[in-house]
Amino acid sequence: MRITKILAYQVDLPLHEGSYNWSGGKSVQVFDSTVVRVETDAGIAGHGEACPLGPVYLPSYAEGVRAGIAEVGPALIGEDPRDLDRIVRTMDRALKGHPYCKSALDVACWDILGQATGLPVCTLLGGRNGDDFVLYRAISQQAPEAMAANVAGYRAEGYRRFQLKVGSDVETDIARIKAVSEVLEPGDILVADANTGWLQHEAVRVVRGVRDVDVYIEQPCVSYEECRTVRDQSDHAFVLDECIDDLRSVLRGHQDRAMDVVNIKISKFGGLTKARQARDLCQSLGIAMTIEDTWGGDIVTAAISHLAHSTATEFLFTSTDFNSYGPLCIADGAPQRQNGRMAASLAPGLGVSPRFDVLGDPVLEIE
Ligand code: MG
Repeated sequence: MRITKILAYQVDLPLHEGSYNWSGGKSVQVFDSTVVRVETDAGIAGHGEACPLGPVYLPSYAEGVRAGIAEVGPALIGEDPRDLDRIVRTMDRALKGHPYCKSALDVACWDILGQATGLPVCTLLGGRNGDDFVLYRAISQQAPEAMAANVAGYRAEGYRRFQLKVGSDVETDIARIKAVSEVLEPGDILVADANTGWLQHEAVRVVRGVRDVDVYIEQPCVSYEECRTVRDQSDHAFVLDECIDDLRSVLRGHQDRAMDVVNIKISKFGGLTKARQARDLCQSLGIAMTIEDTWGGDIVTAAISHLAHSTATEFLFTSTDFNSYGPLCIADGAPQRQNGRMAASLAPGLGVSPRFDVLGDPVLEIE
């Protein structure tokens, strides 16, 4: 089987809440997502999606996804999409770094492998664990009372795990964490994600200010070293996200006892192949994981579901259903949240069929 053609589509993903706000006043109103279609001489086509969280979250941006696909795509023409490790090496030879540009292509090849073998990607990634898996809800940054009200609302929809977007001034962030903790019930899990938004001295004050609250602290500061220093002065369970993007950073964090949980975003690692390597390493080291992506629609959500559902239940701290954050459906067959949980499709591959009437004409064609 050979890759004969690669197409890319651009789609805008609006939000039910109107905007998504996180540390430092960063905000996105409409997410710019890229869907790829990889066609083969066997008549099988696979799909993937990549959607940065705007241009100022990680070193990634929406136009960059498409520029990167244009750069590495020609190197994949003629390759066998089922040879996933070879596909990844071919992309890494064609373009150094830029993992987020390669993610959708890698995911599309997993989709093809699944269709070619008649197996769900979840099975190929290690096998399904249980009937479904647990999700969290990200709570966009607002005033403390508004965030508490949002948590109560999403709790009524079935979510039991909440990730608060903090990372502004110390007093307000402490108030946010305390206000939300008061609306939670036993068994609920609360994470305060500063998304690198605190300086070290600010983070130290916040963790002291919420010492008596059962809350996880996620990525308080920009650098790994700052985060480690804050952890040394904190009693809270710790999640690292932005500074964990490859196997070396996972191993370093484990060696230094820098975190209890890591956040594995598929496009941050460069696709399912490398995200699976990190997932397997974390399981071997005893580190629990949030498994998700930077953002996305139905196809990203499907890819997340296959990696999350194939992760041992005790190691899956949370996962995400991005396709419930906005009104636009871009693919049929995508998993849908039920009572704060989700399941990967049982159909071969990712189990999704893109809606090309929604995606429109391709913005990129490589053959
Ligand atoms: Mg995070």
